[in-house]
Amino acid sequence: MKKGIVFVLSGPAGSGKSTVRERLMQKGRNFHYSVSDTTRKIRGAEKDGVDYRFITKKEFEDGIAAGNYYEYAQYTGEYYGTPVSQLTPYIEKGVNVILEIEVVGAMQVKKRDKNAVLVMLLPPSYAVLEKRLRDRGTESEEKILKRLARSREELQYFDEYDYFLLNEDGKIDECVRQLEMIAEAESNKTKNNPDFPNEFFK
Ligand code: 5GP
Repeated sequence: MKKGIVFVLSGPAGSGKSTVRERLMQKGRNFHYSVSDTTRKIRGAEKDGVDYRFITKKEFEDGIAAGNYYEYAQYTGEYYGTPVSQLTPYIEKGVNVILEIEVVGAMQVKKRDKNAVLVMLLPPSYAVLEKRLRDRGTESEEKILKRLARSREELQYFDEYDYFLLNEDGKIDECVRQLEMIAEAESNKTKNNPDFPNEFFK
């Protein structure tokens, strides 16, 4: 049976990852969004179990010890991780899984799954990124500075990714369209359809 593909979407805070991912999923594609665990505090209108599962540091560390995470990383002092249960059962059923994760975790996924597709979403410039983060107004100055510093580090992983997408102001539809094209091309790759010749002659 055809397996699902793991799509990793990374990009600095303020790149618009969640919006792009939500729009993609509204198009009714065969995607499961992997809900991560995190130890950070709930923010704005987020819902526990929908945006993240918000858990304690102790719970997260117990999960690491039990091997419950497909990948995990620390980001600005908090843990973030993809539970195996959010990924493996879906892939086995032929459902594509979309992970919205940072670069360290993305490298772990790339190592574990050679067919994973890594996409880096970027604003058109660093100046635009800084403006978006400040306009969001949900975090302290200290957190904003930490996130900006981290985004500089993240760009160093640029060439580890298969694709990059620019999310320009006011052009989100174009960005979503490009991501859809990537998803379609990847699912038509011969290596992602190894059983097709046998089915053809049935
Ligand atoms: P935020 O606090 O803004 O929701 O997320 C901070 C960063 O952690 C973002 O880059 C986000 O994509 C990343 N992130 C969210 N969930 C996970 C996860 O399960 N694993 C990893 N490695 N990073 C994650």
